[in-house]
Amino acid sequence: MNYRHVYHAGNFADVLKHAVLARIIVHLQKKETAFRLLDTHAGTGLYDLSSAEAQKTGEWRNGIGRILRAPLDPDNAALLVPWLAAVAAANGIDQVVPGAPFEPARLTVYPGSPMIARHMLRKVDRLTVTELHPADFTRLSTLFAGDVQVKTIELDGWLALKSFLPPKERRGAILVDPPFEQPDEFRRLADGLVDGLRRFAGGVFALWYPIKDEAETDAFHRALIETGIRKILRVELRTAQVEPGRPLTGSGLILVNPPWTLEAELGRLVPALAEWLATGRGAGGRVDWLVAE
Ligand code: SAM
Repeated sequence: MNYRHVYHAGNFADVLKHAVLARIIVHLQKKETAFRLLDTHAGTGLYDLSSAEAQKTGEWRNGIGRILRAPLDPDNAALLVPWLAAVAAANGIDQVVPGAPFEPARLTVYPGSPMIARHMLRKVDRLTVTELHPADFTRLSTLFAGDVQVKTIELDGWLALKSFLPPKERRGAILVDPPFEQPDEFRRLADGLVDGLRRFAGGVFALWYPIKDEAETDAFHRALIETGIRKILRVELRTAQVEPGRPLTGSGLILVNPPWTLEAELGRLVPALAEWLATGRGAGGRVDWLVAE
C-alpha cells in the first residue's frame, strides 16, 4: 500500500469526484428521512497543502486552485456551492459567494471525501468510513474522534461493501474510491458494485476510476454493461488527451441509481469544469447513460 492521497489531494480528479459527491448528498437532503453515507476508501480526511508531499506535486493548483479562480457562471457556481462550502469550512472561512469564491492563497488545507460528507450531514444522518492504511487510519480516526455521527473503521473497503450494506437507514450513498495500485482494481470495482447492489438495491453508488488507457476503460464499461445492472450514469472529465504511460489526465465516476435531476446538472457542470481544468488538446467532459433505466 504505497498510495498516499496527500500527493493528489485537490487535483482535477478530486474536483470531479467531490463536486459530484456533494451534489448526490444535496439530493439525499431533500427528503427529511435520515440517510447514511459509506466511504470505503476514505484516506486521511484532511490534507495539508503546505506539506512537503502536496508541495512536491502541486497537483491541487491545477485542480481546486483553478476552480477558485475560474469565472464561474451563476448556474454552475450554484451547483458547486455545497462542495466549496465544505472546502471553505475546512479552511476556517465562513462563506463562499457563487461566482466570487475565495482566493486560492487563503487555501491551507483541502478536505477529503469524509470531511466533505461530514460537513453535509444533518443531525439525523450518519457517515461510515473505512481505511486500510494504518497511518492514514490513525489520522482519520483522530479527525473524527468523539463525533457520534461518524464511525471510523480500520477495514478493507471491499469487505465494508459486504459488512455495512444495507444501512439501517435504508437510504444513502456509497463512494468507492480505491487507489488503483493493483492490476485487478477495475474487476474489483465491478464485482464490488454487483455485491453492494445485491445487498442495497436502492443505494446510490459512486465508483471512481482513473482513465490511464482508453482501451482499459472501455473494457471496464463493457464489463459493467454485462452485469445487467440498470441506471448507470457515466461521468468523465479529461484535462487533455489520455496517453498511456503519461501523467493522469482523465478520471471518471460510475453512478448507479443517481438522483433523477443529477444527469441534467452534471451535463451542464462537467463540460464547464473540463474547460476550466484543461491543460492541453483533447480536454472535455462527458455525461451519458452507460445503461439507461
Ligand atoms: N476517498 C478519498 C477522498 O476522496 O478524499 C481518497 C481515497 S484515496 C484515492 C484511496 C485510499 O484507499 C488511500 O488512503 C489508501 O490507503 C486506501 N486503501 C487502499 N486499499 C484499501 C482497501 N483495501 N480498503 C480500504 N482502504 C484502502
